[in-house]
Amino acid sequence: KRILITGGTGFIGHVLCRQLLARDYELTVFSRQPPETVKSSCGRVEAVSDLQQLRSHPGYDAVINLAGEGIADKRWSEARKQELRDSRIGVTETLVEVIRSWERAPKVLVSGSAVGFYGDQGAATVTEDTNPNDEFTHRLCRDWENAAKPLADDGVRVCFSRTGVVAGPGGGFLERMILPFKLGLGGRLGSGTQYMPWIHRDDVVGALIWMMENPNASGPFNVVSPNPATNAEFTRTLGKVLHRPTLFPAPAPVLKVALGEMARLLLTGQKAIPERLTQEKFEFRYPDLERALAQSVSPRSSR
Ligand code: NDP
Repeated sequence: KRILITGGTGFIGHVLCRQLLARDYELTVFSRQPPETVKSSCGRVEAVSDLQQLRSHPGYDAVINLAGEGIADKRWSEARKQELRDSRIGVTETLVEVIRSWERAPKVLVSGSAVGFYGDQGAATVTEDTNPNDEFTHRLCRDWENAAKPLADDGVRVCFSRTGVVAGPGGGFLERMILPFKLGLGGRLGSGTQYMPWIHRDDVVGALIWMMENPNASGPFNVVSPNPATNAEFTRTLGKVLHRPTLFPAPAPVLKVALGEMARLLLTGQKAIPERLTQEKFEFRYPDLERALAQSVSPRSSR
């Protein structure tokens, strides 16, 4: 079975590639990086640097679409917002066009999205049916999902991974948070009452493979742990696994000045639960925050 992956070199994608290779899938990874770099992070895969090279291709059995500029990498200027959109919606539109030129349509497209789809939801429980709050992350995720929908009209099974905040070794948001915590300068962000719908990377990878392999799965899935935590609970648990105090809260006004609109990523959230994955009896390897964080920060954990 052959799979085409975008975003395969990323924090989630490179682990996904290695798991799929271990299951004997053949992979092609779309990446802007040189083939040697792609192979060194993803393993024995074929690399393509331009999706147009795959026009009129005989076809792949499945496509997994994770490409996107990092949402928290830079302040959200208008130009940056456009990059965030182009790298998701633009890439997905091109991907759909290219897929439509294949001799044989894929059985399934698993496409990226995020819990930011729902916008700020305060303390209310958020399922796949919750009405979104209209803000930048909502419009970004909505348009990203919508870009893939033409394939569903063609009869392809399309799943969306509305991913939470991903914890795992060697990257992601934890890597940025961890230094102040290690120095004993960690603390909650703002009031700490906002929810952080966290998930361990191994469970994201498991859910992506589950969506791809399960012939009955389609539509949006909240890819978050079954135990959402507030920022204050998350902070306490991270301090505990690092054996450090967490006495230094970052006040909301300071974050707003430092980060501008992007501060919403830290100061607002969603108490998202994986309602559909739970109904489907998906088994989480890391349902417990303390274990997930301990695995993520352990020096013995592999990337
Ligand atoms: P990374 O930032 O680690 O990787 C991003 C990937 O996207 C890279 O493989 C990169 O490919 C590709 N990419 C970035 N910009 C472009 C571009 N302009 N054109 C084409 N490809 C591009 O992301 P993660 O692995 O952490 O996340 C994967 C997806 O899941 C992202 O879309 C992200 O928004 C989403 N997500 C992640 C969460 C998290 O906490 N990690 C939470 C919710 C959603 P290359 O450099 O090889 O070209």
